[in-house]
Amino acid sequence: MDHTCDETTMNRNDDPWPMNRRLRLRAEPLKPHKQDPQARLENFDEVSCALAPHEAILEASRCLQCEHHPCTMGCPAHNDIPAALWLLEQGDLRGAALKFMETSNFPDICGRLCPQEKQCEGSCVIGSYGLPVAIGKLEQFCVDYTREHLGGYPMPGLGPPLGTRVAVVGSGPAGLAAAEELVKRGHHVTVFEAWPRPGGLLVYGIPGFKLNKQLVWDKIRWLEELGVRFRCNVRIGPDLTPDDLLRKHSFDAVFLGHGASRTNRMKIPGEELKNVYNATEYLVRGNLPDELLPQGMRGRPHPARRTVVVGGGDTAMDCVRTARRLNPGSEVWCVYRRSEAEMPGRLEERINAVEEGVRFEWLTLPVKFRGDEDGNVTSCECIRMLLGPPDAKGRRTPVPIAGSNFVLECDTAVIAIGYSVDEEIAESTPGLTTTKRGTILVNSEDEGHTARTEEIWAAGDCVRGADLVVTAMAPARKAARSIDRALRARLAGREQSKSREPTPESKSIKM
Ligand code: SF4
Ligand code: SF4
Repeated sequence: MDHTCDETTMNRNDDPWPMNRRLRLRAEPLKPHKQDPQARLENFDEVSCALAPHEAILEASRCLQCEHHPCTMGCPAHNDIPAALWLLEQGDLRGAALKFMETSNFPDICGRLCPQEKQCEGSCVIGSYGLPVAIGKLEQFCVDYTREHLGGYPMPGLGPPLGTRVAVVGSGPAGLAAAEELVKRGHHVTVFEAWPRPGGLLVYGIPGFKLNKQLVWDKIRWLEELGVRFRCNVRIGPDLTPDDLLRKHSFDAVFLGHGASRTNRMKIPGEELKNVYNATEYLVRGNLPDELLPQGMRGRPHPARRTVVVGGGDTAMDCVRTARRLNPGSEVWCVYRRSEAEMPGRLEERINAVEEGVRFEWLTLPVKFRGDEDGNVTSCECIRMLLGPPDAKGRRTPVPIAGSNFVLECDTAVIAIGYSVDEEIAESTPGLTTTKRGTILVNSEDEGHTARTEEIWAAGDCVRGADLVVTAMAPARKAARSIDRALRARLAGREQSKSREPTPESKSIKM
């Protein structure tokens, strides 16, 4: 990075606090712009509209520059938020972007996708007085602005090439973050991806109305310019194992960042009926052009009149909003077994879904799909639930109400009840240990060592289960540093043993 903010920190300390603080607390919070709810159903473009620089600078000026910056503690990447916002407030947009990029590989993407109300913004002290600083929107703004108007993603300095080769499995958030950290430190990096294009979840999981794919393409091109190589349509598993990469293809280390991409099933009657989709298939076919998809997963989903989406997380919201865009004249229902208060996803996405006309059946669980004589789904039988005592995680357990069954007509259904880790890789790699849930066991998220120490590292959703972009990225960065340390130690060890090898002269003396 070619930027430091020592000077700025000095200016921050000179700030006339008491007066400034009162003024800052009285400032009007940002009013983000969005596409009109009706208009947005006619396109798949991002719903949030870009801020103007003066709006972002004004919003950044609401930050109180708290000494103990609780916002940073609330951010899984530990971004130095006050420092970045101070730079932004001074009009140094590139400096602010670089500050976020010091601790994050995807500040523009996290700014769009993080559930900020539970993270950085949820910890912002201004939240006790009114709306917290819109940290996510500002993070997104300064990196977008730098990319679009100030010469693209800034190029980092690269370490001298070490001659070491690392294979990265998966090109989602964990894989890309690890690849970036490794290539910057002088390692040759090859990323293996099972889908036809790199990007993993960022391309094949998140719809364009939440994340403009151009950001991902720009990031991939930037990584290629740094030297990262991508091998798509290559599935690491029984046919090409991590051991093959190490032994036959001479990689020095393997990083597993293949995520959690297997869609969970409900295991209820009728799930095999036509036009009952899993979330991944529905989202990729509904959102992506055929050329980005493998054969056998192409073409738009069934043009529905009434779609039922089962689930309450961000993926369920992506599905209901995709369904509304695929046919704006159709009815779309979200069916969730707990109440709205327990929904695990991002508040902004729920608000967007409501604005877009999605209807909700809370405290409702599908128990059966029914079909016609041609095998097409025609309805979903549901049962009402009530909330019982909290489970081990503190969430209240839904309990069925006997005799409350009812039928919801539908001609398309989508199961969006979460993802699990595909166990193919673990099963084809002797010595790798996994949990009961199929996630890969590592020594700690600070190191990412698997049971195959010094050969195979892992981080992200394949270790912690399906989670957020930022929670996949942060440990992947640490695992990459751990790989770097191990490979450097290995190189140093080789140098040392070379220098200890007896010279021809000393050999002759010995003899
Ligand atoms: Fe907030 Fe996420 Fe950005 Fe951290 S990475 S500052 S949690 S939006
Ligand atoms: Fe600024 Fe809020 Fe962080 Fe304080 S907690 S430094 S006000 S963003």
